[in-house]
Amino acid sequence: MILEITTTYQPATDLGYLLHKHPDKLQTVALSTGKAHIFYPEASPEICTACLMLDINPVELVRSRKSPSPTLQEHYVNDRPYTSNSFLSSAITKAFGSALNGKCNARPELVDTPMPFTVKLASLKADGGPELLEKLFGPLGYATQFEQLPLDERFPGWGLSKYVNLELRHTLPLKALLSHLYVLIPVLDNDKHFWISRNDIEILLQKGQGWLEDHPEKEWITRRYFKNLRRYSNEALLRLAGEEALAPEEPENAVTLNLHQQRLQKAFELLKASGAGSVLDLGCGEGKLLKLLLQDGQFKKLTGMDVSFSSLQKAKENLHLSDAAPALRERLSLFQGSVTYQDERLSGYDALAMVEVIEHLDEERLPAMEKVVFGLASPPTIVLSTPNAEYNVIYQKLQAEDFRHEDHRFEWSRPEFRNWCEKVGEQYGYRVSISPVGPEEPEVGAPSQIAVFTKK
Ligand code: SAH
Repeated sequence: MILEITTTYQPATDLGYLLHKHPDKLQTVALSTGKAHIFYPEASPEICTACLMLDINPVELVRSRKSPSPTLQEHYVNDRPYTSNSFLSSAITKAFGSALNGKCNARPELVDTPMPFTVKLASLKADGGPELLEKLFGPLGYATQFEQLPLDERFPGWGLSKYVNLELRHTLPLKALLSHLYVLIPVLDNDKHFWISRNDIEILLQKGQGWLEDHPEKEWITRRYFKNLRRYSNEALLRLAGEEALAPEEPENAVTLNLHQQRLQKAFELLKASGAGSVLDLGCGEGKLLKLLLQDGQFKKLTGMDVSFSSLQKAKENLHLSDAAPALRERLSLFQGSVTYQDERLSGYDALAMVEVIEHLDEERLPAMEKVVFGLASPPTIVLSTPNAEYNVIYQKLQAEDFRHEDHRFEWSRPEFRNWCEKVGEQYGYRVSISPVGPEEPEVGAPSQIAVFTKK
């Protein structure tokens, strides 16, 4: 398994600085199941080639494999050691990690410098046919050339294999080239050897930054990257589209005002405008809305309720409740409960909020929630938001029928939400006003919708 990177940038030996590997030395780094050697068959000011050669130990590979393979034979007879596949991505991080992350202390100006590159990958597995190569690399600006290898040289009649010798040419910064290879090689391979975890979402978003968001095949790439594990691919796709998914384990992402933050901001503004002094946040999750509300002195009493104990634990941490001063503890409290059960603790607030909660309830439980929230708690103001299902077509990855979050029980179109709001308003004596949240698109509206109910 070998990756060859050649540049004719002048002086071409600058490649050695960028890769943090000196052209005169053979270097070896350890991988989990073998070694990677880095060497330069050619290094002159005119042309420089760096090679990354993988030496995968088939026996170690089998030993390290945590999943039982279906057959013993597959254990020892497989293509992994001999082809360019997802191991190459691991090797790229190990051998060229600094270059991949755009670090070059010796010559920082080289990091963003576009350089003419030719990349050769021998025996690259292209599961899905060689036409994928153009589909994946073409939109990124690469000229692709490939030779499809026969299944067995001795028996041409057997036809062609999934393996190709690939040559790519492009002028771009090295870190962009490496990030393309890092993501696309395992996608082509379709047999990612490592376990997929939630952390891979962060990795994909980081390595795909600046190109994957706009790639015409981004949906396909993401699904393959996560081996079609929808819980990860859907979330990654949403985040590529600029929305923060609402998974409870979601780490804070405070860099951009993403859709969820816009939603929270809108809820904050509506609560503020209502003049409420006390607010109960139902389905408070990790306490993001409470955190916003805490910053404003208008809100003298704040309470969060959620059905999930672990979400409440996170909220407690995020709001630093354990080590809070007594005054804050007076002002802010949390408790566990469900919006579908009658509960005296829900009474006496000026306003209730339910931000992206209703779609987590089973539809047949809605009348129970309506009675509890609108009928019994019955505060002067209720602020409630939910996704707009019509907008889902904008997220290319999601078919219109797919929901945005695996735990969503339903998602409403704008008319469906309006009908529900008006029906409940009518029944329990509330006026309702609905506004869109997030960028509006001509046919389908905004990604989210928020209603404020005011008691008549
Ligand atoms: N409002 C938060 C969290 C939204 S995620 C925010 O905007 O950041 C949906 C939350 O609703 C989850 O925390 C989930 O535990 C909670 N939830 C689901 N069903 C519930 C129920 N019956 N009662 C109360 N909370 C519920």
